[in-house]
Amino acid sequence: MNYKAFVEGGCVDFKGFGVYPKSVHEADGVVYFVADAGEKDVLVAVKGDDVQVCDMNHEAAELLRKVFPFTKPVPVLGNPRTVGVGDRLGIAGYGHTRVFEKYDALPILCQQSIRELNLTNRTFEDVMDAGTFAVFRENFTKGFGADGDHLKLREDVEYALRLGYTMLTLDCSEHIKEDGGSVVCPEMEAKYLGKTFDIGEGQTITFDKDELAKIVYIYGEAIDYATEIWETYFVKGGAKADFELSIDETMTPTSPAQHFFVANELTGRGVKLATVAPRFCGEFQKGVDYIGDLDQFEKEMKVHAQIARYFGYKLSIHSGSDKFSAFPSIGRETREIFHLKTAGTNWLEAMRVVAIHDPKLYREVHAFALEHFNEATAYYHVTTDLNKIPNLAVLTDDELPGLFKLNDSRQLIHITYGLILQNEKFHDRLYKFWRKYAEEYAEAVASHIGKHLETIGCPLR
Ligand code: ZN
Repeated sequence: MNYKAFVEGGCVDFKGFGVYPKSVHEADGVVYFVADAGEKDVLVAVKGDDVQVCDMNHEAAELLRKVFPFTKPVPVLGNPRTVGVGDRLGIAGYGHTRVFEKYDALPILCQQSIRELNLTNRTFEDVMDAGTFAVFRENFTKGFGADGDHLKLREDVEYALRLGYTMLTLDCSEHIKEDGGSVVCPEMEAKYLGKTFDIGEGQTITFDKDELAKIVYIYGEAIDYATEIWETYFVKGGAKADFELSIDETMTPTSPAQHFFVANELTGRGVKLATVAPRFCGEFQKGVDYIGDLDQFEKEMKVHAQIARYFGYKLSIHSGSDKFSAFPSIGRETREIFHLKTAGTNWLEAMRVVAIHDPKLYREVHAFALEHFNEATAYYHVTTDLNKIPNLAVLTDDELPGLFKLNDSRQLIHITYGLILQNEKFHDRLYKFWRKYAEEYAEAVASHIGKHLETIGCPLR
């Protein structure tokens, strides 16, 4: 294809040249754009008579980040509303950018945990490159972040920072002890007992002796670990990234007193938190609505939000996809200042589009997921009842997309993504399908995440 003619023709005949209209950018006399070359997209650079066409690989992404600063992630958590939209497929960003053109929030387009990387056979480089390509092709210039999500080890923190990730989510779960012990610490008793901590808005936090000993036991080590990471990489290392503390992957919910204690200790030691992710009461399971007592959730959300305001960070809501019944109170109590994390819901949308347009392929994937469901529960906590999933043999093709309205079948597909995507039988066929239905997928993602933001009360731009 003669891309030079596209440039000489004034970059107007987009269709004739398979060029993505918003991707045309110029810098230093070179015109860059992304074109659809059939089975794949290519990056084209034209300067005078010189036309270079290259694959959308890591070098191409590095080049774009160098030439066009908006394609490089930046710290965005300082923005009132931020949403992590982890993309396990590397193709969801094209739909995600549409959402944030419309709603007044900034995205963390690149957000994967080590668990997700392992399960999808990807690297942090791949994840960042996918974000760069998405914003470049769609000309999304508002800024986006990159979150090394649920990092537990120093080496993973180093890996993410080395690549220029702009947010670190430190997962302290391995340093958080389960309920059952207590540590009596005179120093802490002097600091916390017999005192009333006024966090404003008419809210106070107090500690009794037993509770304090329990909290020191559960969180003591985690606080030390988070402080050490902060001092090593942020104070000494000079990292310019948003720091999130995640204490959500624990067995028991984080009580307001526990939340306050952890935050008070960390800020007292000089740790600057951009966000904290407590574990809320009830169940925040992947890909389905909130499970639990909504009244109690609202009451606790109110205090968690007050604590966050008091210390000056944002509350981070993990496993935040599809929590439609909880969104209104989250928006209200945080006063529309929050970080919401979603991860796999765009994968579910991708599979829903498969169910709509390629029922045969969907049926194969579904059968495979059923067969391998137990393996996948090693990685995710869900209460899925496979018996509640309709037998596909009695469903017509038209009924397949309806499966994505049922919690149990959503979770079946939600947690088996790694096994499905790493399976040779499916990987290429699925990606080929998504390429063919790219526009429909982008719209599905945009409308689904858009519904999240609308329900939480996010203003439009
Ligand atoms: Zn989490």
